[in-house]
Amino acid sequence: MESIDEDDEEVKQLMLRISRKEITLCDSCDTFFDYMPRKRFCDECGKERERKRKRELSPEARERKRKYDRERARLLEVKAKMRERSQSPEYKAKALEYRQRPEVKERHRERCQSPEYKAKRREYYRRPEYKAKKREYDQRPEVKERQRKRYLRMKKLREEE
Ligand SMILES: [Zn+2]
Repeated sequence: MESIDEDDEEVKQLMLRISRKEITLCDSCDTFFDYMPRKRFCDECGKERERKRKRELSPEARERKRKYDRERARLLEVKAKMRERSQSPEYKAKALEYRQRPEVKERHRERCQSPEYKAKRREYYRRPEYKAKKREYDQRPEVKERQRKRYLRMKKLREEE
């Protein structure tokens, strides 16, 4: 009888952990796995279902998927090519020339002044990733030196006024 009591205790613990959303019982086997929202199957069963789903795909669905995969591969290829091209000196020179044009500069200035852009920028500067990067950057000797020089320049300007 003792073993049944122990089982009871174990079941109670499991129920408790399930109710606390620590673990979930797989919908198709008796494996428990770490709770994840909307995850209903253990890894094994999830993979098996995925395999089954692929096998049972209708010819039309299979053709759609093939087409989708092809399109995606092509898109990735185009993207890679564009990235490669944007690294070339010719492209960089052209981009620089473009950015120097008065009308482009003007457009850029206007965009930077828009409230939406300012809000976005503010949001970006508040991110922890940005703050960490900035801290690291500010610690660099050459950056510190530049900041010191600018400070002295500003100070001198103020004194001259
Ligand atoms: Zn399972």
